[in-house]
Amino acid sequence: MSTTNYERIPSYGQHGLGATLVYSMMILFLLLTTYYFYFAIEFNAASLIPSENSDWQGFSQAILPNWESALVYLLWFGLHVLLYYFAPGKKDQGIELEKGGRLTYPINGNSAMWISLSAVGLIHFSDFYTLDRLYHNFGALITTITLFSLAKSLWLYFYGKRTEPRHLSGNFMRDFWMGTVLNPRWPDTKTGFDFKYFCEGRPGLIGWMVLNFAMLDAQYKAYGFVSLAMIIVVLMQLFYIAHYFHNERFILTTMDIKHENFGLMLTYGDLVWVPFLYCLQAYYLIHHVHDLPLWVATLIVLFNAASFYLFKVANDQKDEFRRDPDKATIWGEKARYMETKTGSKLLLSGFWGKARHLNYTGDWMMALAWSLPCLFGSVVPYFYPIYFAILLIHRDIRDNEICKEKYGEDWDRYCEKVPWRLIPGVY
Ligand code: NDP
Repeated sequence: MSTTNYERIPSYGQHGLGATLVYSMMILFLLLTTYYFYFAIEFNAASLIPSENSDWQGFSQAILPNWESALVYLLWFGLHVLLYYFAPGKKDQGIELEKGGRLTYPINGNSAMWISLSAVGLIHFSDFYTLDRLYHNFGALITTITLFSLAKSLWLYFYGKRTEPRHLSGNFMRDFWMGTVLNPRWPDTKTGFDFKYFCEGRPGLIGWMVLNFAMLDAQYKAYGFVSLAMIIVVLMQLFYIAHYFHNERFILTTMDIKHENFGLMLTYGDLVWVPFLYCLQAYYLIHHVHDLPLWVATLIVLFNAASFYLFKVANDQKDEFRRDPDKATIWGEKARYMETKTGSKLLLSGFWGKARHLNYTGDWMMALAWSLPCLFGSVVPYFYPIYFAILLIHRDIRDNEICKEKYGEDWDRYCEKVPWRLIPGVY
């Protein structure tokens, strides 16, 4: 049975004033959270609790959009649209669609990333536009891209209304938030420009990296050097993003691409939430310069490497198994699995025999490794691991529901064999 997000609508329903209020509050909360963390880190001494020293006036001025932020974003977005079409790379096909057929996607995010980062580096080192200007325009950029995301989501709502009216729930706020269209394309063909696939990676994830470099430059301009903590945070995150684009075709089988409609939730998440909140560690480090001992830095990098190993190997084991269950070998042995009535098999060896989502655990441990160089003076640089823990626990619960719906009693049997969700012996 197919499970689109439309069929998994939250239990508080879709109609009436109650649902409208819930979705409106959710949208407001999401938007305010980004601003609040910016306020906390820049205008409230990296504290979440306002005090008499909080600079509310500076904050209210900093978040006003300006021509510079609009132009910078227009150029950045435009560059990535061009790279989507022209950067070197292969093409691949997505999963079989409900209505039949498959969509074609350009797998050129890797070259798009390195070309766009090189272009940014060139512009920076030519002194035409230095990266620290992005740090000084951080608030204006948040507002500019938020307005852009709201406008784009409105357009997506009408796009879905026209092309996939059966996805509409009838509640505008719900449809605006969750989206009304699975694969918006222009032109609406198998090879057209895919807005969701494009936004999932290109301007936001690579934008996160550019913002990290802007923080690094801001620290350099302020102190005349770059701290070891800053270097390892930027490098560990660069490695993560580079790995993502190196394996870009894997996102074609993720929940977001397969099941989620493209509305404000994904648009805002991709374009604002990810770049502006995931760079908080580097942001925090600009003015929190400390002497991180080399041995501590080494331990953190090793912890990051071990976490990456868990994340990558767990994902690879499932991927290899899904491609050919009978030929897959795991840790030197033929993969063990159980049959299900659907015909699809469930892996029982490797990390998938120890817990049901060790890939999530490795991913979360990396998030923690990126915050540790900030030490423990503020909770703000720990935003990402805290938020990500909630997201992954929720995602694990949702995935469990999807699998239960798909596999029925076979899933219960699998859960008996592999009782742990995220941490063997604990949870
Ligand atoms: P998974 O890669 O864990 O995929 C879950 C699916 O795998 C299930 O629905 C089921 O699908 C299949 N499956 C489950 N158990 C087994 C088994 N024992 N054997 C074979 N197949 C099984 O989940 P996601 O797509 O959510 O995540 C992919 C990666 O992306 C993860 O590493 C995650 O950490 C990362 N991620 C990162 C995010 C971020 O913001 N940084 C956000 C979300 C994810 P089926 O049976 O239909 O094949």
